[in-house]
Amino acid sequence: MGAPRRVHLRTYGCQMNEYDSEVIAGLFEKDGWVLTDDEAVADVILLNTCSVRRHAEDRVWGALFDLRERAMREPGLIIGICGCMAQAKAQEIARRCPHVKVICGTRAFNRLPELVARASEGKGGVIDIDMTREPYLADLPKKRRCRLKAFVPIMRGCENYCTYCVVPYVRGREASRAPEEVLSEVESLARDGCREVMLLGQNVNSYRDGGVSFAELLRNVAGVAGIERIRFMTSHPKDFPDELIRAMAEIPQVCRHLHLPLQSGSDKILERMNRSYTFESYRGLVGQIRGAIPQIALSTDILVGFPGETDDDFKQTAHALDEIGFDSAFIFKYSDREGTRAYELKPKVEEEIIVRRHAELLSMQEKISMEKNRKLLGASLEVLVEGYSPRNPERLFGRTGTNKRVVFGGGGDLIGKLVYVIIREATPLTLIGEEI
Ligand code: SAM
Ligand code: SF4
Repeated sequence: MGAPRRVHLRTYGCQMNEYDSEVIAGLFEKDGWVLTDDEAVADVILLNTCSVRRHAEDRVWGALFDLRERAMREPGLIIGICGCMAQAKAQEIARRCPHVKVICGTRAFNRLPELVARASEGKGGVIDIDMTREPYLADLPKKRRCRLKAFVPIMRGCENYCTYCVVPYVRGREASRAPEEVLSEVESLARDGCREVMLLGQNVNSYRDGGVSFAELLRNVAGVAGIERIRFMTSHPKDFPDELIRAMAEIPQVCRHLHLPLQSGSDKILERMNRSYTFESYRGLVGQIRGAIPQIALSTDILVGFPGETDDDFKQTAHALDEIGFDSAFIFKYSDREGTRAYELKPKVEEEIIVRRHAELLSMQEKISMEKNRKLLGASLEVLVEGYSPRNPERLFGRTGTNKRVVFGGGGDLIGKLVYVIIREATPLTLIGEEI
């Protein structure tokens, strides 16, 4: 028997891609392959890609062009691309990068080992971007990076068609997983030592399978012994019934953190984005959630520079950020994506203005996050210890239920445990403390 073949996997983009990469790794391992972090020794190099912003795609184009020379030197090397960019740009990739031998769309990632095997037979490039196929929802073998925490997709696709977003085009229509599927995956994770699950979906709270709503699914997942924390993302403000708020408040395992993208504080822009809510209704929802769960920490996504965003619209977003007081926010510069409805919208905001507005909101949010974290000085917070701090291996790192990063001193025996930490210092992104 020859040496096992080695596959190197690079992941770009969101949590769904990270999960898909764990599955892809698991499938290759099951087929007898070895995963390697060292690209130089790999027989197959796979890029699992994102298409949401132009910048993400530019990074992948750069990586593909960098690999061209090596592919010429090593004709046996298989370079493959999968994920959203493979789905969106298959023809362009095939034309500009003939050294890429496998192009695998979002509905075919479970077939990657087979596509690679076909490509190694040397009959030219293999492309599978069939979107008519049902999304793959069954549990598949996985190579998990972390035993303690795991992603669990509960749905795939999105049908919201926010006008700026490529996801509905590259991930296809929405499909929820059967609750028994989700539960059996969570149970198997719990048996394997997992203590925290993150339920994933592009629009996680629109989950519905037959009579089972997202709120009911949360209650079922909370019934799995050993799972101490449940998180979920991303929630859309338009799908937030009282039943869900009640479930979040009542289930102790549901973490006191909610990621609730606002995108803009201007109703005119929200309408042009096709977000189906107004700032007033968003503010009302936040009031209800905070009323029911006072300890909840909120985070959000904000998009600056959407076509037609005036100074006044921008001021409304800045005002919204200030008024809601998010614990943290991802602030993105609008990226024009061909094929979306916003691509056709005018007037475009000048890049220079987008850069300025982006910087302004970042600095504003930094102050808000700092203020929020400063209020935690002296508090004792429950932390799930995930490992050693990446910046300072002498210290431990973990997260609170409210998703705050905490760094503190302690021995490796605490990893995987829930401990209480008293907070002594605060920065906008991290709390520093001592175990009690
Ligand atoms: N489904 C989730 C939701 O509705 O909030 C988020 C998914 S999306 C991939 C993650 C974030 O990327 C969005 O909330 C939005 O702020 C940002 N995003 C999407 N399209 C974008 C674009 N064309 N340019 C810049 N940011 C974008
Ligand atoms: Fe994109 Fe909107 Fe769907 Fe989120 S809800 S994935 S932003 S279309």
